[in-house]
Amino acid sequence: MNSDETVVRSTCPACGTVDVPPEAVTVLVAGEGSDPVYRYTCPQCYAVVEKPTSARAVPMLQNAGAQVVLVPAEVAERAGRQGEVLADTDLSAFLAALGSSDDLARLAAGL
Ligand SMILES: [Zn+2]
Repeated sequence: MNSDETVVRSTCPACGTVDVPPEAVTVLVAGEGSDPVYRYTCPQCYAVVEKPTSARAVPMLQNAGAQVVLVPAEVAERAGRQGEVLADTDLSAFLAALGSSDDLARLAAGL
């Protein structure tokens, strides 16, 4: 056992208790009034599992190596209503656009 290795202990609906490496966890923070959720791919059955968490746990998960993504409340609400989850590719495109004002300007111009 390597006690230095941090894992996120979670419960997969299919597998029961699983240990997930923090780097494989994405925390979605929707802002005031709604609880953050964390999402990971189950290391045993490869299902995508999403669990609510508390705002207090977010910095701990982040320190452990989890990726934290801020989701505008209206997006989270829309996704919840349609029973859909933001696709990872959409999210990374979104984040890439945020990281570059040139890209953002181009997006705004519809190019
Ligand atoms: Zn599983």
